[in-house]
Amino acid sequence: MAKYCREVQEWIEEEIEKPVDEWIEKRVKKCKKKKCKKWCLCCNKWFCWIETTFEKVVKWVVVTVGKWVTRTVCEVVHTTLDIIGLFLGLIFSIPLIGRLIKELWNLISEVANRILGVLDLILCIFGVSWTKKLRICIIILRDEKNTPTSTPEKLKPEIKKAQEIYRNAANIHLIVEGIYTVDNASPSSNLDVGCGFNGWIEDLGLVGSYYERVANSKCFDSNSQRLTGWAAPVIVFAVRSVTGTAAGCSLGPFSDYVTIEGANPECLAHEIGHACTLPHNSEKNNLMNPTCGGTKLNKLQKCILRNSRHVTFI
Ligand SMILES: [Zn+2]
Repeated sequence: MAKYCREVQEWIEEEIEKPVDEWIEKRVKKCKKKKCKKWCLCCNKWFCWIETTFEKVVKWVVVTVGKWVTRTVCEVVHTTLDIIGLFLGLIFSIPLIGRLIKELWNLISEVANRILGVLDLILCIFGVSWTKKLRICIIILRDEKNTPTSTPEKLKPEIKKAQEIYRNAANIHLIVEGIYTVDNASPSSNLDVGCGFNGWIEDLGLVGSYYERVANSKCFDSNSQRLTGWAAPVIVFAVRSVTGTAAGCSLGPFSDYVTIEGANPECLAHEIGHACTLPHNSEKNNLMNPTCGGTKLNKLQKCILRNSRHVTFI
């Protein structure tokens, strides 16, 4: 069962079904409180009862049945797209040509999703920013001796910190779709990765190919979102080391994954920001300061972040 479809169902239950139920409940209470008009054998109470019963029936047909129809359609479409995504992932994992197509596809889907979300971008500029969601799927690599580069327990404090930063700075609910560990030892070139131009070159070769294959199998449930880019989780690889001073790396809109050092995951929130196209910022307490120690975002950064393909309402 797709997690995304379950989340959609929960959203319908919380945002639509619950308020409608509460509204009907209030109406029922009001009916009960009404004083009986004896001259017409309590006709006012009867009419009130008929009205609320009708409302309950309409609610059941529209909301409850609608909710299950949505869930079923979502599951069928989602699973089909997941399987298509898995096969396309095999093409995307072909070094050079497949990787180039994937980078280009990432860029196109980023631009397309930003254009589609332009209305929300304008609202954000004018100060309206309803809660949005951002998903991540974490994959822990294993070194040559089969030892994981990190553990879920080690990552949890940084996940919590990232969730607080995104909630406070941009009203974004950061959802962890899953934390998985690869089954076998990872190639050394994937354990110690480059960044910047080197990272880009590596992404086009066997390094990018391995990440693509692992993401497709471990985060299978999100293949459909990764296919279109919309609501696609940022895939976070916990590696052994990242070349350079920072403990993480992202290729921005060219890729849908980031790398963080498993033993030192302090750059998690920062790299997710890069994945959502945020560049570096020199303000000391800014999230996008290269030191990875900041927590704040300015208004422009907030709106750019919220307009990313990774950040959606449902
Ligand atoms: Zn950075």
